[in-house]
Amino acid sequence: MAYEVLARKWRPQQFADVVGQDHVTRTLANAIETDRVAHAYIFVGSRGTGKTTSARILAKALNCMEGPTPNPCDKCDACREIMAGNSLDVIEIDGASNNGVDQVRDLRDNARYAPARGPYKIYIIDEVHMLSTAAFNALLKTLEEPPPHIKFIFATTDVHKVLPTILSRCQRFDLRRISVQDIVDRLRRGCAEEGITISEDALLAIARGAEGGLRDAESALDQLISFRGKEIDEDDVLAVFGLVSRSVLENMTTAILKSDVPQIIHIVSAMDQAGKDLQRVVMELLESFRNLLVVLYAGQGAASLELPEAQLQFYQAQAPSTEAGRVLRIIDALIETDSRMRYALSKKTLLETGLIRCSRAAETATINELLKQVAELKKNFKSGATLAPTASAAAASLYGGDAEKKKPDEPAELNLLFMKWHAIIDLVGRADPLSRRYYLDTAPLRVDHDHLVVGFDPEFKADLERFDDDRSRLALARAVNRVLGRMLAVSFEPLKPDDRRALPADHKVKKEEGKPVEPTNELVKWYSNPVVKTVVEAFNGEIDDVRE
Ligand SMILES: [Zn+2]
Repeated sequence: MAYEVLARKWRPQQFADVVGQDHVTRTLANAIETDRVAHAYIFVGSRGTGKTTSARILAKALNCMEGPTPNPCDKCDACREIMAGNSLDVIEIDGASNNGVDQVRDLRDNARYAPARGPYKIYIIDEVHMLSTAAFNALLKTLEEPPPHIKFIFATTDVHKVLPTILSRCQRFDLRRISVQDIVDRLRRGCAEEGITISEDALLAIARGAEGGLRDAESALDQLISFRGKEIDEDDVLAVFGLVSRSVLENMTTAILKSDVPQIIHIVSAMDQAGKDLQRVVMELLESFRNLLVVLYAGQGAASLELPEAQLQFYQAQAPSTEAGRVLRIIDALIETDSRMRYALSKKTLLETGLIRCSRAAETATINELLKQVAELKKNFKSGATLAPTASAAAASLYGGDAEKKKPDEPAELNLLFMKWHAIIDLVGRADPLSRRYYLDTAPLRVDHDHLVVGFDPEFKADLERFDDDRSRLALARAVNRVLGRMLAVSFEPLKPDDRRALPADHKVKKEEGKPVEPTNELVKWYSNPVVKTVVEAFNGEIDDVRE
């Protein structure tokens, strides 16, 4: 017997069997039951969501010899002809094919003749938005004054391209993307019938890959069966579709939430080596954090997620340790990473830095958390604990009232920095391994009041510019603070040949002048504000942004 593809073999024959479109099928069944069938319908939805399937069931329901009935018998001649696709009364036209115009012209000429067998002549026009203008016009004539025995069922993936004159004459149904859980359930049931052994994770991976299209999921399963036979596990699915396993996605989600940068870099490089589609990884992470967000808002219920139990448990386990504001910031960073990666040649580097940025977004305290902690501080303060200096001292310091303070010994500080530079870089590297790589080619040049000038090898100018930003400077300033006990603004300047001693001996310094980069004084100013300093230290936090 010839192999029948699953999408065809499993095609639903009754409204009740259509997956994930209850809102459509129930309304249609009702309309038939109560004899309120419109003369034109349009089904809108992305590919593989059941538009043509629903159209054919509707045709059967109308023309079944036992009907019209919401439960066509599937046994009478009319039902069987429609199922076999050779009914004279049900005419399917593909708007995307070239003969669309001719078929629509035939339609116009033949519409006035009575149906051959059933009560209705039913035209199913797929991808109706693709019809040429000529075909549209021909169609419109019949649609405006339809004979009572004519029914139209249109389907489209792109409703915006359908002429308003047509839309206004149709009852419209929007078919949803099918949920992962619904697809998994359908595939599981089908596999059991076919005697195929398949793991839950494999089903889940297929459903993820199909992005809400059941037909795509079924074709994927077809492909897997011809590739693996009757036993399929997650690895097979991942190999065929270049997907990343659920456990890897969960590990990455956890690493981002925990700001575990070494782990992020490790996972990215493993995925890259395994030839995974990195752009797709970003989309899957987006989905993952979106799910987490829904769990955070919906709590234990989280019914709207329609996720399999194991996945839901993962998000529920993550939820208590995070907060919606953080997740939203991660999602923003992921969206940005996604758009940057689209046009990039080296997707790996962008993914790496993008995910590190995400982890930083996860790290920064939200306003809500800060407010909560400040309230706590206030309570401690009232109960006698002295955490912050008095307001007047703070104000004096903020507005420059500390003139008589002892001036720091700058040459001594520079020497100290020079001696401890590698330790400082390691300190930066602990928070951000990527920065460490770049700072290895730098050395402290001079301390000028509250300002540290760092020299870099001009040969690596391009690297430095790519990576230099407020955050990385701040990381450096904080590490310097650990050594000197005060925050300095950091700026960069290309090294001159004389400064060669600062760098490892094998560095060749070229005679090239780079433009020094502007210092970031804004955040440093705030760090030296005693009140802010106390708060930052009390929470072991960082200033992420200053807003007035
Ligand atoms: Zn029938």
